Amino acid sequence: MLDALSERLQNTFRRLGSSGRIGEQELDEALREVRIALLEADVNFKVVRDFIARVREKGLGQEVLTSITPGQQVISIVHDELVRTLGGEDAPLLKPDSGPIKILIVGTKGSGKTTLAGRLALRLKNEGHRPLLVSTDFERVAASEQLQVLAKSIDVPCYVEAKEAPAVDVAKRALAEAKKQNVTAIIVDTVGAVALDDDTADGLAALADEVDPTEVLIVVDAMSGQEAVTIAKEFHEAIEGTGIVVTKVDSDSRGGAVLSVREVTGLPIKLITTGERLEALEDFHPERFASRVLGMGDVVTLVEKAKASLGSRSVEDMTKRMRSGQFDLEDFLGQMEQVKSMGPLGGLLDMLPGASGIKKQLGGVEFNDGFFSQSEAIVRSMTLQERRNPEILNGSRRRRIARGSGTTPQDVNRLLNQFKDARKLMQAMTSGKGAGGIMRMLGM
Ligand code: GDP
Ligand code: MG
Repeated sequence: MLDALSERLQNTFRRLGSSGRIGEQELDEALREVRIALLEADVNFKVVRDFIARVREKGLGQEVLTSITPGQQVISIVHDELVRTLGGEDAPLLKPDSGPIKILIVGTKGSGKTTLAGRLALRLKNEGHRPLLVSTDFERVAASEQLQVLAKSIDVPCYVEAKEAPAVDVAKRALAEAKKQNVTAIIVDTVGAVALDDDTADGLAALADEVDPTEVLIVVDAMSGQEAVTIAKEFHEAIEGTGIVVTKVDSDSRGGAVLSVREVTGLPIKLITTGERLEALEDFHPERFASRVLGMGDVVTLVEKAKASLGSRSVEDMTKRMRSGQFDLEDFLGQMEQVKSMGPLGGLLDMLPGASGIKKQLGGVEFNDGFFSQSEAIVRSMTLQERRNPEILNGSRRRRIARGSGTTPQDVNRLLNQFKDARKLMQAMTSGKGAGGIMRMLGM
């Protein structure tokens, strides 16, 4: 997602970066491009209008700092205003003062509610809670079955009723059951609405009254664009949501929903989901997401993902080695398996600064498991000394390694070059101070 928007913005800023001074005219020219880029990404036009106005005002009002170029200054204003558009602060899930956490999930059909219920149950369980999943969806027989299957796969109890009954009644009995089972988190899945008519709105309001939730999450499908944002607003007006969850952020939607939904609904985005696997649930961080949009990458999320799958000691180690440029092919090999377990590589790459540029540079090389097994085979054909210090590999060794790994000398050379680039990138990423460091690295 967001590749097109990211790329356009980067192009615009690259042009700015080369000019010595930015006057009103240059600023307006740049902002015109930013506006087009946002509109093409399907961002709500009012959100775009306000955004551009804020950036312009700040841009004109600001003294030009001597330490950075005017281009960098504009980027930093755009970044800050993007963060603001996305909600500014992180908005964690609410915790009740006493009693169980109660989460009510609402949204349109097919937006990912039932899957989200499963994801939340899994997360809460991993945090030490005893969750109970509740289905109030009778529209299809398969609806409650789907939740039951999910519940079973993560070994969490699930409350469903075989006979159709009003959602309010089901919820009442589910809450009683929750008390008996001494659960600490209740997650209520609801029937999806295509549009929010009065009946549906009343039904949901009654359900919310009964459940008295700590959190009403309105699910927005990133793939349905502005339409989903409008419906989210209607849901909020009907039952007062507490937060937004944007699903399918992994899809190649243009990003308009994520960038608009906070301003249009006034509700914070709390979570995003980025894949079909239950684990693909992320806390939403406006700051990091803005960096992702601007192609500065999302190094923090990347490091957190790595932490989750590597254990923090090896991450610290690795980061230290990356920073000092000591990361060698032996480390590379050691991490390969674990990197594979971090999820689809395309997604990981999107979090890196300038990812679209990197992807292009890599040209024909597919960053998939095939790429990994080939790389692994090549590294395994080297001696330990060579892995520690790839610079010593001469032409004849490279040919032997190619033969040993069933690849060609070109493959070996390409891997070594990529590794060299990656090591540079890692060093810059880990030693830079936040966005500033990353921008410096990108030469912006
Ligand atoms: P509901 O009708 O709102 O309950 O939606 P479901 O939870 O049944 O999900 C509808 C479809 O969207 C299913 O095929 C899910 O696997 C898929 N889905 C949900 N979340 C995501 C996501 O973050 N990424 C992707 N790619 N698919 C998702
Ligand atoms: Mg469902």
